[in-house]
Amino acid sequence: MITGKNQIGYQLSATGTNTFKTFNPKLNVATEWVFKEAAIDEVDEAAQLASRAFETYRSFSGERKAEFLSAIAEEIENLGDQLLETYMIESGLPKGRAQGERGRTIFQLRSMAELLIEGSWVEAIIDTALPNRKPVPKPDLRKMLIPIGPIAVFGSSNFPLAYSTAGGDTATALAAGCPVIVKSHPMHAGTGELVSSAIVKAAMRTEMPDGVFSNLNSSGIEVGQQLVSHPSIKGVGFTGSIAGGTALFKLATEREEPIPVFAEMGSINPVVVLPSALKKDTGKWAQAYAESITLGTGQFCTNPGLILGFESASLHNFIAALGDQLIKTEPGLMLHPNIYGNFEAGKEILSSEEGTSVIAEYKEDVEANYAQQLLLTVDGKTFMRNPKLHREVFGPFSMVVQCKDRTEMRRILKRLEGQLTGTVLGDIKELKAYGDVIEALRGRVGRIIHDGVPTGVEVCPAMQHGGPFPASTDSRFGAFGASAIRRWVRPVSYQDWPQELLPDALKDKNLLGILRMVNGSYSNSPIY
Ligand code: NAP
Repeated sequence: MITGKNQIGYQLSATGTNTFKTFNPKLNVATEWVFKEAAIDEVDEAAQLASRAFETYRSFSGERKAEFLSAIAEEIENLGDQLLETYMIESGLPKGRAQGERGRTIFQLRSMAELLIEGSWVEAIIDTALPNRKPVPKPDLRKMLIPIGPIAVFGSSNFPLAYSTAGGDTATALAAGCPVIVKSHPMHAGTGELVSSAIVKAAMRTEMPDGVFSNLNSSGIEVGQQLVSHPSIKGVGFTGSIAGGTALFKLATEREEPIPVFAEMGSINPVVVLPSALKKDTGKWAQAYAESITLGTGQFCTNPGLILGFESASLHNFIAALGDQLIKTEPGLMLHPNIYGNFEAGKEILSSEEGTSVIAEYKEDVEANYAQQLLLTVDGKTFMRNPKLHREVFGPFSMVVQCKDRTEMRRILKRLEGQLTGTVLGDIKELKAYGDVIEALRGRVGRIIHDGVPTGVEVCPAMQHGGPFPASTDSRFGAFGASAIRRWVRPVSYQDWPQELLPDALKDKNLLGILRMVNGSYSNSPIY
């Protein structure tokens, strides 16, 4: 049952007066559920409880935390069809997508549990003492990663499960040993409440401290701001818009004690089309890109919003074929009226900028909240001069930039803001010949793709999901796996510390059997 209440540790709470509802975009009406926005005292209580829970949770063994994460996965599975139905009502997304995202969420939690059981993620480094070193003896030094404290998590509207309540940020923060407070997304607060109830059930079942997890409702920015400003919060995970992520980043750095914000934000994911790709494969790429631009109604952060090619007859043919394919695609439903409104406004702003022309626009009547796809084109010089044209339009939209030559293309790429992905279409000979262009692209992205589309993000350790600002606030980390857990930890060194008081990961006996760097070499062995 959805209560509309906030989850403060083990208790449901609703002391505030403001209420809001989620929205069914398919029926274009508000849902039946009424949510109570968290009051300031509830934000404070959740943060204080998290701080107390941290005192014990920080030192739990990998096995205990793994048990908790596996129990969360199980409890999410136990929610069964109710979770899928609520997800579909609040997002308008189809059942297959709901099942896929639930599977991904569970996979992330179980992968983290495996990482904890294996244990080497703590990056233990041991440099044993050299008491006879001249002129001064060398002390015994042992370093490992430890959790930083309670984390505030903000999920995005386009991933109600995998990047939300029990998504990547929550799974990795809990794995690191940090309690989590989620600021629930107002557009899928019901889905969030169900997942949050599963997390709390799992926490009780595995005897985790009260406060290891809380979930706060809000339909405005105040609760999120209070949370990020609260002295008990020591880090922030955010997935969403550039405006939201940068506002919270600024707030966090202006605190008396600044804290890190790991924001995964928007991107236009440039695609470089080299001449060989259009020699024989114009039709193939036009179809692949029409599908990628409209996948999930364009509501993916890896959506290809910018395509760059060299002014030529073959590029014109490609643009025309891409436009034809886009128009043939049935318009898709957007997640909620706000995202639909932003999409419409974004299209309007970009298409009324000087120098842009419309290649293809879906003009037939559509029902409420359905997106009409748009493809624009512009010349390289105009694009380079006008930063407004570099903005993300979140939805089924793309722009083809016709560059005069490789120098212009390279300059455009160098001037682009940071991106999640960059793609190159072309044969190997051309990839070598255009090394300077590819180097410029690599300098702006977190993942570089050859002969493919940027949508579709594999969840595995070698995946980098993040990029230079504003794709992320810290390009050294990513949203997946071990790279993500490292966002919630800091290294600490023990100098000449008694063996029996060292954490197990650093003891001579290597009780956990983990891979450690011992005196410059990797080893699983004890130190004799
Ligand atoms: P959003 O509007 O930024 O919302 C995300 C969350 O942040 C919501 O809970 C929102 O709460 C909160 N928020 C936004 N601005 C805030 C502020 N100034 N202060 C405090 N809280 C704030 O994003 P969205 O529309 O849900 O998601 C779409 C965007 O996410 C797209 O730009 C997409 O590219 C990006 N995205 C990125 C990734 C990635 O991995 N890089 C993945 C998915 C989506 P309120 O709604 O209550 O304000």
